[in-house]
Amino acid sequence: MLELKDYRTKVHNDWCPGCGDFGILNAIQMALFEMKLEPHDVAIFSGIGCSGKTPHFVNTYGFHTLHGRSLPIATGAKLANTALTVIAVGGDGDGYGIGAGHFVNTGRRNLDFTYVVHDNQVYGLTKGQAAPTLPKGEKTKSMSAPAIVQGINPIALAITAGYTFVARSYALDVRHLKEILKAAVLHKGSALVDVLQTCPTYNDINTKEWYAGTELPSKTPRLYKLEETGYDGVVKNAQDMNEINEKKGQAIIKSFEWGEKIPIGLFYRNQEPTFEEMIASRMPVFKEVPLTKQDLFHRDISPIFESLT
Ligand code: SF4
Ligand code: MG
Repeated sequence: MLELKDYRTKVHNDWCPGCGDFGILNAIQMALFEMKLEPHDVAIFSGIGCSGKTPHFVNTYGFHTLHGRSLPIATGAKLANTALTVIAVGGDGDGYGIGAGHFVNTGRRNLDFTYVVHDNQVYGLTKGQAAPTLPKGEKTKSMSAPAIVQGINPIALAITAGYTFVARSYALDVRHLKEILKAAVLHKGSALVDVLQTCPTYNDINTKEWYAGTELPSKTPRLYKLEETGYDGVVKNAQDMNEINEKKGQAIIKSFEWGEKIPIGLFYRNQEPTFEEMIASRMPVFKEVPLTKQDLFHRDISPIFESLT
């Protein structure tokens, strides 16, 4: 019988004390445990940044890849072994900056995987420069001047790219994040979970207190849960383009709400054929036997040569 401790490693963790990354790590471990996924059936891929260390701390297969490159490697692993549960983790700089092309195109394929982005609006590992989600005009304590370029909206970007599960959660609300992660992993298709993550070392704007709204006149938390408002982002009829466009439109509008009130939860979900299913529709053997189980040494390749003569 698996226990929660079976998803933890003994690798030393040198994240800064109080970092929101700890909440994300705990939520991943708890989600895998509650889903009763065997550690050897899960593979976690990361890029470069503080978030990149996550696979070191989760007792599954793991691959610490290059800056912005976790998604093509995760794609290769999923195609090679479709039975794997594939999770990629990255930072906002890693995934929405240098990895932005891969971010768009992996979602466009609707690969069955989950992408968890530690969104702290700074490049934490390299001393707090402005990352792609830092809004224009904001200045964290490590910047000499305010950001002069627009911040991106990852929720809107994911929806327009083609992700079929798009959600946001908060690193310090581990219970909410864990439930969102479970739903994302269960979803068949590309799932983005953008996680608002506090970086107490470099981001002195979006702090735990800021998210809690302690300086607001109302003293009420900025974060509220979409599921508690009657918001419904789930497409009921995947053949109905009107419904799909309507649900995408409402999700994008909702994702621009940022200030005294910030929504978290599921913005959009639709069930569409996955990349793997599309490949299998052309190559039935892909569905019958994963590439990792196919005999690479005793294959009759003469039909390929014959087709070329
Ligand atoms: Fe966390 Fe920021 Fe420290 Fe990185 S620099 S470990 S994101 S607190
Ligand atoms: Mg970052």
